Amino acid sequence: MNTADSQRLASALEAIGYEATEKAENADVVVLNTCMVRQSAEDRALGRLGSLKPAKKKNPNMIIGLMGCMVGYKDPKPLKKKLPWVDVFAPPSNPKPIVDYIISRQIASETRMDNTVFGWHSGEIVLPKAQQGNAVSAYVPVVYGCSHACSYCIIPYKRGAERSRDPEEILSHARSLAAQGVKEITLLGQIIDRYGLDNENYPKLPELLRRLNDIEGLERIRFLTSHPNWMTDELLKTVAELPRVMNHIEVPAQSGSDEVLNSMRRGYTDAQYRDLIARIRDIIPNVSIGTDIIVGFCGETEEQFEQTVQQLSDLKLNVVHLARYSPRTGTLSERTMPDDVSDEEKWRRFRVIEKLQEDIAAEHHAKLMNQTVNVLFEEKKHRRWLGRTENMDLVFADSDEDLTGKLLPVKITWTSPWTMGGMIR
Ligand code: SAH
Repeated sequence: MNTADSQRLASALEAIGYEATEKAENADVVVLNTCMVRQSAEDRALGRLGSLKPAKKKNPNMIIGLMGCMVGYKDPKPLKKKLPWVDVFAPPSNPKPIVDYIISRQIASETRMDNTVFGWHSGEIVLPKAQQGNAVSAYVPVVYGCSHACSYCIIPYKRGAERSRDPEEILSHARSLAAQGVKEITLLGQIIDRYGLDNENYPKLPELLRRLNDIEGLERIRFLTSHPNWMTDELLKTVAELPRVMNHIEVPAQSGSDEVLNSMRRGYTDAQYRDLIARIRDIIPNVSIGTDIIVGFCGETEEQFEQTVQQLSDLKLNVVHLARYSPRTGTLSERTMPDDVSDEEKWRRFRVIEKLQEDIAAEHHAKLMNQTVNVLFEEKKHRRWLGRTENMDLVFADSDEDLTGKLLPVKITWTSPWTMGGMIR
């Protein structure tokens, strides 16, 4: 979501005459777009913010902006007190305060901010110059905020209540990306399957996917993140049916223990999650599935942790995004449940899952040996071309040609837990 928000900000700044620099220290405007989902993300943002202080001393005209979850929706005055060298604050997904501030500071400038030109209402986007001609894949927000309130999660407090984006805006955003050469879009929402449920006039996710599937030039459509309780058979059938919607689902389990799931306020059980995975695999042929897991949640016992291990080793999901529980100020778990699993133990549990997943991923990839898969190439890395399969697997291949944005069949010749390699057919 932050990547998409930053892209919109960059494109707006270019529209009022700015261009990107290599180093933040040399810039006239620096904006940090921040995440608070775990302490590590918050620390990183604060560290970077501190490191900009000397640059601002050297160049007092430098404008420093802070955007995203560290700002949230509340009045930024207390933050301004804490961070006096920051000039302007903007909530998540809304770069307008920053652009307005810059314009207000440039008294002599003729430039005017025109919302229709910037497409903040039409949804259209002009890619930032650095991405023009080479952006293969882009994010498109479709649901802002979240109203679920998992007990550990800060997102609802920082990104506000759930609200779906206007479907016409989404379509024009996607069309403008396709017109600029983007081949793959990923729709974003904290609970993406709830798209349109907050507005009776809006289409729901299956219908939105159908409309996006018709856009000329788009080769691949993805969406994330799903919540187990909102994945309907209709949605799964739509994914199976539409040629451009990829067979990859991101649906976090978070834990395999019913007690932990209950204290996380996730709203489903281990058995229900397992049923869902069976249903997804039944309806979508050749599907790959990603999950998120939090280890060391408040009160998580060894036995409860083992239930998560068991769930994963039974289900053998393709990808795991793994996190150690990090208490976030103001959330239900932070206020009412003790963070009683030691750091050391959180790390141990983290490594157990990591090792398990390494084996599972290696097994999945090994099955693809000598098979031909369709790869959408994105960029050159370590002198080889890197792309993704329909299932999100990373594939390297050699070529002297420019493969940016090319969708090609590749025969897999080697595999590892994290990547694969092959020959272009
Ligand atoms: N809305 C999505 C994604 C939320 S943030 C969902 O609910 O699945 C991405 C991931 O960060 C979450 O899935 C969760 O695994 C992790 N996460 C969120 N809050 C956390 C916290 N306080 N400590 C550790 N991990 C957390």
